[in-house]
Amino acid sequence: MKTILTVVAVCAAGAVLMVYAEAKWKVHDEARPKPPVVTPGATSAQPPSDALVLFNGNGLGAWTSDKPWKIEEGAMTPAGAGDILTTAVFGSIQLHVEWATPKEVKGSGQGRGNSGVFLMDHYEVQVLDSFKNETYADGQAASIYGQRPPAVNACRPPGEWQTYEVIFHRPVYNDATKKLVKPATITLIHNGVLVHDHYEIKGTTFHGSEAEYEYHSAKEPLKLQDHGNPIRYRNIWVRELPE
Ligand code: MG
Repeated sequence: MKTILTVVAVCAAGAVLMVYAEAKWKVHDEARPKPPVVTPGATSAQPPSDALVLFNGNGLGAWTSDKPWKIEEGAMTPAGAGDILTTAVFGSIQLHVEWATPKEVKGSGQGRGNSGVFLMDHYEVQVLDSFKNETYADGQAASIYGQRPPAVNACRPPGEWQTYEVIFHRPVYNDATKKLVKPATITLIHNGVLVHDHYEIKGTTFHGSEAEYEYHSAKEPLKLQDHGNPIRYRNIWVRELPE
């Protein structure tokens, strides 16, 4: 009993110390540093002043691909060129991306407006025409591909512009052992609707097999998938998040 009381007392003391350690600032402390000023975009879709704009219709200078994607009416489209990656690399980010599946509906299931936003080139947020288009739940639009369906299907009809707002925290690896220390998490808002709330990603997304973490560096490019369908992207920007 005495031992238990001692343990409880030690734990309580530890908790008190932790609270004090975190309580660096007094309530309403005037000395507390003020957050930096960021000028928001004219609309919530437009990049704020501290965002890195990856695509705004004026060229693909921030991207690299084996064959060039096309720019048509301010949107980028793969046209069979293969996947496209950012030249910059990122860890944890806030990402805004807009996409539209072809207005003219061709194909069905995974063959209809398929693409994908690959965070760190490993973790696919599925892009698909999931407006009245049946497919497996963990492969529909806004799914974490092969892992987790979106909470709801918030897809707009084919041809209409749709938005993803992503808050992604990168996985952390031990660089010496190459073992995972902390999994990645994602929050995703699709067309203004929360579809993933701080979901813990299970690993690299694969087609047809279980996700598994594969060691990679702390910063990797963002990738957009060419799945053979004439998908369009526009207005892509990121804000790097502090570690
Ligand atoms: Mg895909």
